[in-house]
Amino acid sequence: MIPRIQSPEQRPQWQTLLAQAVNSTDELLRILQIDPAQLKTRPLDNKFPLRVPRGFIQRMRKGDCRDPLLLQVLPLQEEAQTAAGFVPDPLDELDNMPVPGLLHKYKGRALLTTTGACAIHCRYCFRRHFPYTDANPLADQWQQAVDYVAQHNDITELILSGGDPLTLTDARLHSLTDRLADIPHLRTLRIHTRLPVVLPERVDTGLLSWLASQQLKTVLVIHCNHPNEMDTDVREAMSRLRHTGVTLLNQSVLLRGINDNSATLIRLSEQLFAAGILPYYLHQLDKVEGAAHFEVDNITARQLIAEIAASLPGYLVPRLVQEVPGMPGKNPL
Ligand SMILES: *Cc1c(COP(=O)(O)O)cnc(C)c1O
Ligand code: SF4
Repeated sequence: MIPRIQSPEQRPQWQTLLAQAVNSTDELLRILQIDPAQLKTRPLDNKFPLRVPRGFIQRMRKGDCRDPLLLQVLPLQEEAQTAAGFVPDPLDELDNMPVPGLLHKYKGRALLTTTGACAIHCRYCFRRHFPYTDANPLADQWQQAVDYVAQHNDITELILSGGDPLTLTDARLHSLTDRLADIPHLRTLRIHTRLPVVLPERVDTGLLSWLASQQLKTVLVIHCNHPNEMDTDVREAMSRLRHTGVTLLNQSVLLRGINDNSATLIRLSEQLFAAGILPYYLHQLDKVEGAAHFEVDNITARQLIAEIAASLPGYLVPRLVQEVPGMPGKNPL
């Protein structure tokens, strides 16, 4: 696909597509030709409503209420179940912010929540209860975060996270990274994003030229849980990204009923590699309230990794990790 040329006044196509994302359960099920009576859906609350781009819906199977992509976005009544250990802020993130929006938990790396917005709302997300209005840095608060990074010369890598940082406009991305360019000890820029998967149109000429202009080594960590999430558009977006020289990695979340079998995970690793992406992490679920029905136990998780390792080269085996508050890094299982 040839990237579109944008004139400055023109709203990029991805923003229009984002604005047209489906936000009603009824419409989603209608598109998929699923009878609502087959499912116990949950009335939407305003805090974490349904949101899914139309292109992502096209990759779901029609008429299948167990579709692995659908189950990631559909609010089910099971979310209302309370479960022991599942809490609103499982990672104690609010205790680890030296300045608003900046998490500095691990040596050498700091993570900036650049925005609360995402192109898709994943029901298992640990940020579903995050008070973004407080923790979401406004443009002028980025300066505080940038100052903190500049003052801590042990920070060599800044991770842009969210929300999804690529929901920000190109102008906002430039304004952030322009300020990072003057920090001598910063070597790496890492971007945690699901957009190239759920809205590959985001990978347009504007984004590509922003990436290509970076002086820092750049790592783009996408988030793909199931091989069905990848289609031709996604693979083409990955190819464009690769040509800017970024390192492409993937992280997945292990999800019951979605990707908790080795055949699916093996296929995922193979498809990622075919698109030039290496598997990085397979996360055990963060125990966030409302997500207990996605949990896979640790014994099963380890068994799955053993099965992948028995079938694939080591570089296609993701690291199985769990985030444990207070640990100096992700905890390998
Ligand atoms: C996950 C995470 C990182 C990055 O950890 P890596 O092991 O380097 O991928 C950094 N900071 C925070 C707060 C994180 O949650
Ligand atoms: S895209 Fe990432 S941050 Fe956004 S809802 Fe999904 S998992 Fe959470």
